[in-house]
Amino acid sequence: MTQTGTSWEQEVRDRQEFRSQMVQNFGFTVMDHGVALLRCPRCAALTAINSAFPDSDWNSLDHLLNVLESYLESRSDQILCGACRDTLGGPACNGDFEYWLWHAHFLPESKRDLQLLIHRRNGTTDWVEGMLVDEAGQICPITLPASEVEFRPRAGCFFSVRQAWKDFLHDNWPVSRFGSLEISDGYYLIVNPPVDSDADLQEFKENCVRLVGRSSSSSNQYEFADLSWADTWSFEENTYHQWLSEFERDLEDTDVIAGVLASPPRFYEIVQAELRPFGCWLRREGDNTPVAFLGDDEYYVSFDYREFLINAMIKGYSYWGALKFVEPVLESWEQARETGERLKALLSAYSCTVYGGHYFQCRTKRGRKIVKEFDLTRLSECDDDLEENSAFISWIAPQIELDPQTLKFLV
Ligand SMILES: [Zn+2]
Repeated sequence: MTQTGTSWEQEVRDRQEFRSQMVQNFGFTVMDHGVALLRCPRCAALTAINSAFPDSDWNSLDHLLNVLESYLESRSDQILCGACRDTLGGPACNGDFEYWLWHAHFLPESKRDLQLLIHRRNGTTDWVEGMLVDEAGQICPITLPASEVEFRPRAGCFFSVRQAWKDFLHDNWPVSRFGSLEISDGYYLIVNPPVDSDADLQEFKENCVRLVGRSSSSSNQYEFADLSWADTWSFEENTYHQWLSEFERDLEDTDVIAGVLASPPRFYEIVQAELRPFGCWLRREGDNTPVAFLGDDEYYVSFDYREFLINAMIKGYSYWGALKFVEPVLESWEQARETGERLKALLSAYSCTVYGGHYFQCRTKRGRKIVKEFDLTRLSECDDDLEENSAFISWIAPQIELDPQTLKFLV
């Protein structure tokens, strides 16, 4: 897409408008997304290169900035000017390479979209502008780069728990006494000297109880997870080894406690609230069970929200960061419901019902004999929008032994 007459400012404004709709539609599942606008040194036209980061797992604001700054310049494919087909960037342009890069990253905790504008020329960054865009579209500038301590009061949340961990350990190392940092209400980073006796353990517990007692959260159930559990449980990815490398050896070689104290019921409440726009909800049987059912009255899938949270605590994610584990569950429910409803409409030769939230059962209309039964969540993922019935049938038929012509089961 190239328009010689359009300015980069106008392009960015258009993208911002589209972005606010995306945030409204996709909520916490919205992915990072942006555009780079390159100016052709020969004809001055702007060429747009879209960028999306589906798994926006940033360890810090600096990490994000570094990735953005090298995004275009480390590409191996050639970029051509949309107007004159001249090569942009790379050795061919003698270093004369100018572009504006706009990037958006949603902060589900404070419901604000962090947007960055970067101006790069000849391999160096001229300026970076930060903006926080709220749900009403109000834009509030923020100076970037910023430390987590500067970022939090402006943005209403930490950008990265991993960076907060780094800063927190810097402030507390060597660890001589109990220390804590509140990431959000009911979620704390904790350090404590090694526990060598029952008295030490007692003191540690009392300090934790005192800490959570100050929380305004109504929950009184908390879990503690030490970062080192990553090794005990053989977690392979996204452990402190990857994002806390400066302290990796210190944590391995000492028995210092460095972990997170957080509340599974608080996480449950947050998931509940975040799901509202998707037309589904959470429920559980009794207050003390860690199993949650996500869905509606007919279609639902279950997951262990306590396990999701502990996984997140060890990997340096906040309550809202832990939502990344809920997203596939939400997608699984959406696909089960969509597939179930379409099958019911198509398989008119049978009487179809759903039981247990995701088991599809087909019976003969006369005699009520069970002809077919399968789990809707076990079907292959359908990547494309199967809007046409024919496309939908050719996706599903082989998986459930359905004759695509007669719409009757083969067995
Ligand atoms: Zn050109």
